[in-house]
Amino acid sequence: MTVDTPGSQSALREANQRRVIHAVRSAGALTQAEIARTTGLSAATVSNIVRELRSVGTFLVTPTSSGGRRAQSVSLARATGLIVGVEIGVARLRALLCSHDHEVLAEECIPYDAAPSLERSLRRTEWLVSTLLRQARVDRSSVRGIGVGLPGPIDTGTGAIAPPARLAAWQGTPIAVELADRLELPVHVDNDVNAAALGELVWGAGRGVSELVYLNLSAGVGAALVLGGDIYTGAAGFAGEIGHLTVDEQGRICRCGNRGCLETVVGGASLVELLPPARSGVVPSLTTLIEDARAGDLGSRRVVADAGRAVGAAVAMLCNVLNPRRVIIGGELADAGDLLLNPVREALDRQTMPSSAALVEVIPAELGERAAALGAVALVERRLARAAGAVPHWHG
Ligand SMILES: [Zn+2]
Repeated sequence: MTVDTPGSQSALREANQRRVIHAVRSAGALTQAEIARTTGLSAATVSNIVRELRSVGTFLVTPTSSGGRRAQSVSLARATGLIVGVEIGVARLRALLCSHDHEVLAEECIPYDAAPSLERSLRRTEWLVSTLLRQARVDRSSVRGIGVGLPGPIDTGTGAIAPPARLAAWQGTPIAVELADRLELPVHVDNDVNAAALGELVWGAGRGVSELVYLNLSAGVGAALVLGGDIYTGAAGFAGEIGHLTVDEQGRICRCGNRGCLETVVGGASLVELLPPARSGVVPSLTTLIEDARAGDLGSRRVVADAGRAVGAAVAMLCNVLNPRRVIIGGELADAGDLLLNPVREALDRQTMPSSAALVEVIPAELGERAAALGAVALVERRLARAAGAVPHWHG
């Protein structure tokens, strides 16, 4: 007698999926009735599996006729299909079209204020993707899927943005489902920091490494953890929220509701507030702070160096726990280069166990503003491969 636990149910479902994929792959194309006969599964089970694998882009379902009757022919989607990577940022939208061999065929980026209306942002994203495909003269049927990086933690259970989202109006909405309905293509979402880390892992500063920490230092502060060659999401998708480690119990109240989080110390807004008022009366931006630091302004350099030290202390805790080989620093603050990275390295050296510290290197990200959109492409590839039952083989 089998014990009816959720674990055994999902193991059974996966085993059935593999049988169906194997049958279709062996035959090239089958009707659902033929799949049921070949696999011995019930028609209802086959129908469910085909619907599921179609929605994630593994199967193509096209009309055919069988014995004079209309039927649906099921085949594997071409592995050579195109993938669209999208980043919905707080202040910009970016979309790029990628071939199966990772050539970027077309790219669009527009400044856009995503905060006022979720509905308008979704419409704008739909428009941007459609424009991209039209300009590249690509038919939707040759697109295997769309990956989207979003500015907020994604609940892997619901697919919705969870608090504390930088776009409060987006909280609770299952963005992947909304966009898939509009674009009539499979859509996969993750938070933008995880997407950027995946981008660096596949295309950038993380190539060839299977254990790494990626940091995004901009207006917000986030991290992504790569363990065993893949993003570690945690139980529900919220791993890596380094910006909300408490570093000063008496510090400022954070947008998450706690007090003295790392983000209240090294987030972009907190850094520029440290500067003396400009003679022009204009509040400096993070961009001008970094430019001034690079140009030699001592006050700006001190702000960047102290931020590096605070970040290094927080990352040292992660290094002691996770023993990564590489720490990759991305986000706008990384433009400060060694003015930021050297204090991070010094703090890491001081506060990490010597055997771990000797192993880890701290390097800048390589992909700049495109990291999350490129990573969103890799996200789709990985989800499709997993849905098709492929054995993970991400690194090396
Ligand atoms: Zn916080």
